[in-house]
Amino acid sequence: MTDTPIVIAGAGPTGLMLACELGLAGIDVLVLERLPQPRTVESRAGALHIRTMEMLDQRGLLDGFLERGRPLRDVHFSGLGLDLSDMATRFPYALFLLQAEVERLLEERAAQLGVRLRRDAEVTGFSQDETGVTVELADGSSVRADYLVGCDGGRSTVRGLAGIAFPGTSATMTTMLGDVELAEPPAADIFQERREHGRFSVLSYGPDWYRVLTNEFDHVAGRDEPVTLETLRKSLLKIAGTDYGMHSPRWLSRHGDAARQADRYRVGRVLLAGDAAHIHFPAGGQGMNTGMQDAVNLGWKLAAVVRGQAPDLLLDTYQAERHPVAARVLHNTRAQTALWRVDDHTSALREVLGDLIGIDEVRLRLAGMISATDTRYPMEGTDDLLGRRMPDLDLEHGRVHELLHRARAIVLDLGGLPPLAAVVTGWADRVELVRACPAEGSGLGADAVLIRPDGHVAWVTRVGEQPDLDALRAALTTWLGPAGPHGEQVRHGPALPPMQNPD
Ligand SMILES: Cc1cc2nc3c(=O)[nH]c(=O)nc-3n(C[C@H](O)[C@H](O)[C@H](O)COP(=O)(O)OP(=O)(O)OC[C@H]3O[C@@H](n4cnc5c(N)ncnc54)[C@H](O)[C@@H]3O)c2cc1C
Repeated sequence: MTDTPIVIAGAGPTGLMLACELGLAGIDVLVLERLPQPRTVESRAGALHIRTMEMLDQRGLLDGFLERGRPLRDVHFSGLGLDLSDMATRFPYALFLLQAEVERLLEERAAQLGVRLRRDAEVTGFSQDETGVTVELADGSSVRADYLVGCDGGRSTVRGLAGIAFPGTSATMTTMLGDVELAEPPAADIFQERREHGRFSVLSYGPDWYRVLTNEFDHVAGRDEPVTLETLRKSLLKIAGTDYGMHSPRWLSRHGDAARQADRYRVGRVLLAGDAAHIHFPAGGQGMNTGMQDAVNLGWKLAAVVRGQAPDLLLDTYQAERHPVAARVLHNTRAQTALWRVDDHTSALREVLGDLIGIDEVRLRLAGMISATDTRYPMEGTDDLLGRRMPDLDLEHGRVHELLHRARAIVLDLGGLPPLAAVVTGWADRVELVRACPAEGSGLGADAVLIRPDGHVAWVTRVGEQPDLDALRAALTTWLGPAGPHGEQVRHGPALPPMQNPD
């Protein structure tokens, strides 16, 4: 008998998002966080991307984030702007919102869902057997769980103890960062330039504070070398020729462009997510977003397994789906930092790419990659919708994302297909059959789809086609486990009322 089904190590954005997903599924979860207090001064990430916003919207949580954030029309690829305003989404922008605020909102939500968060609780060891994992803490106590998820950041203790290798590429440059006040700031809110001795950015983060970043390509500093206001000033003076009257630092830090990824995301009952599974240079602001998206992929699977509905094998699909996504992120950040170099050849390459970005198809391809709207998981079948995120169609009553507020799988019948009910009945405790009509002008070209709890399409029947019910049964079995002896449960629109927002 275990103390709790799931222990999560780390209350960063990944661990908290995972805790929210599990809490929503009614699973008892314990989060162990080394820090005694939430991080407030150090706020690494500064933006939510489209797919992350869509995922929060799927849970009815986005309004609280939108209220506190500021929309940004562009994201960038290596500093080359990518206009998002014509992206196919309800949220065609990035949301400027500090990581500390994201963590605060998620922590509040987790508390509402009954998640237990223990601070000042550092995980120092674990051992696992067929029935569970015993997690050891620095204070000498231990907790027994069915599964342990290491969301404990780039230097993950869980990853190390699990013996999971972390291959990749080492740092080739040095970045210094300061959240500071400026007596003479540049006129633009976002000012970035490449000059002879490196690259620098000055980003307006609030009424009177700025994030200043310098990138030097001629040396690699140790990550733990201290940064002072004077070292940052010296670097900025060398590259930009001015320090913009920098003073009153809130946070100073240094990082490189090492890009590494866990070779396995799972060893038995121990899994990794977020920075514990992948690190890379924060180019394009993808790290926090990728971690939160890992959590949404993993949460419903873990819930189904600990409830005994789905076999443990379902957890292997987490690595199969998410490892390639992060590998691609590592790849694109390497390309972005390579393009920052300040030699003439790189300048020529940037000009060519800048020109190509003028072509809508190229811009949208890169924007889809940074925003993660192009994520597609491998699925049986050839239909282009399979594995992709379900578009948030307007329905006659409500819209599709509202159907996912409770994180249950949905068979959405848009074409009035009576045979679906007889199939779905076997999974009635795990999937809802929703009969709805698309609003006028809101077409998908499909009569029915199976939408997983994370919003990805796992079965589709196109308009006018005979539905392949065997394929639907197979998809339900793959994603939700074998059928049970349950009665039919059909919901007709209107959609569910939205969940309460974090505050
Ligand atoms: C300068 C900078 C800018 C960035 N900008 C962006 C951006 O704009 N967009 C973006 O998406 N990403 C950005 N990132 C990346 C982003 O900050 C990380 O990807 C994100 O923090 C990862 O979240 P996480 O929850 O996986 O890990 P973390 O945020 O590192 O959280 C891990 C948590 O685990 C705790 N912990 C560690 N060890 C233990 C242990 N043994 N026991 C218990 N608890 C433990 C830690 O205290 C921490 O709270 C940026 C990073 C940097 C450095």
